[in-house]
Amino acid sequence: MKKISRRKFNSRLGKGLGGAALLAGMPLSHVTACAPKQKDSLGIALVGLGSYSTYQLAPSLQDTQYCHLAGIVTGTPSKEKEWAQKYGIPSSNIYNYENFDSIADNEAIDIVYVVLPNSMHVDFSIRAAQAGKHVICEKPMAMNVEECDAIIQACEKAGVKLSVGYRLHSEPYTQEVKRLVREKTFGDVHYVSADAAYMSRGNPDQWRLDIKLSGGGALMNMGVYSIQSVIYGTGENPISVQAQEFSTRPEYFKQTDETITAQFEFPGGAAGNIMTSHNASANRLYGSCDSGWYELQPANHYGPLHGRTSEGEFSFPHERQQKLQMDDFAKHILQGTKNLVPGEMGKRDMIIVEAVYKSIAEGGAKIKLDLGEMGLS
Ligand code: NAD
Repeated sequence: MKKISRRKFNSRLGKGLGGAALLAGMPLSHVTACAPKQKDSLGIALVGLGSYSTYQLAPSLQDTQYCHLAGIVTGTPSKEKEWAQKYGIPSSNIYNYENFDSIADNEAIDIVYVVLPNSMHVDFSIRAAQAGKHVICEKPMAMNVEECDAIIQACEKAGVKLSVGYRLHSEPYTQEVKRLVREKTFGDVHYVSADAAYMSRGNPDQWRLDIKLSGGGALMNMGVYSIQSVIYGTGENPISVQAQEFSTRPEYFKQTDETITAQFEFPGGAAGNIMTSHNASANRLYGSCDSGWYELQPANHYGPLHGRTSEGEFSFPHERQQKLQMDDFAKHILQGTKNLVPGEMGKRDMIIVEAVYKSIAEGGAKIKLDLGEMGLS
């Protein structure tokens, strides 16, 4: 007989409890009393302990209310000891890339957060889902649309929740822009411009410049923020894109795109323009509407962001965006609140990324997009 882990047994028991009780003629009140206690904080395991996990996610997890840092998965043995000491992680919750799948038997881990180079997202997200864990996959969701589909399907099949690491959907300035657009505070949006770029001057051998590990350059790294921005800046998905690529340092950007601009048409009539680069600095979202405008500058760094409209500045108290993001996902699991960043949003952005690259390959041709309401939130 196939062995079944206690956690899986509990979870199956939980799911099938009502039906089983009825069959056994047992009163439901009794069943509820015996049911496994619902957790009030979910355990997260970070997979990949690079700069984002080290300087953003782990510190944020010291502050979260609905989830906590419970485990780590690392390919670097020295980090096991370092993190265990720093965050009090028991050895039973420490995994490497090879024994990772045995996390299935660990009841202390509810969510696996994949924070690895882009090429590794698909494998670890699928393995996490197959282990029965909810998944947060960092942006960009994967190397291509096909991989996004594979992750989504694996999570559906395993009955686990999936989110992508787009932290800004939990961030108050971004939420305010979404509100201004949704409520048409300044009427219809006519034009939106979104830039997300930084200058890459570091190690030329870093994975972000290696096409096999990154899947692309500025567009895959920062460009997804610009794509996100023009979408929540109009409240719509684009219906077409035309794109251009600029290369001024081919000796450094040997395999990956350096600077890309792209123009979008939106179904409501708005035009959108994005710029993303690994050879310039930019961090802005601007929208021009019927009777006013809004602006975030900066629009996508770790905060605090800065917001203005044609009527003046707006501000919110600063909290770590990653804290808000991970708590929002944990609340989605615990309380059934909305998943602010479902997997289909990550897939939608990858469809757009592929269309941008296609347009460039075809000399700036207009590529039609048929996204409907996909991934809008
Ligand atoms: P990083 O280079 O600092 O860390 C990468 C980690 O992966 C390291 O721990 C490294 O040891 C491990 N790794 C395993 N195999 C590797 C390989 N073959 N080559 C290189 N590293 C390997 O990267 P990061 O900045 O932490 O980015 C990780 C992921 O998080 C990326 O997908 C990135 O896009 C995403 N990210 C998201 C945000 C955000 O704001 N949401 C910010 C930064 C990074």
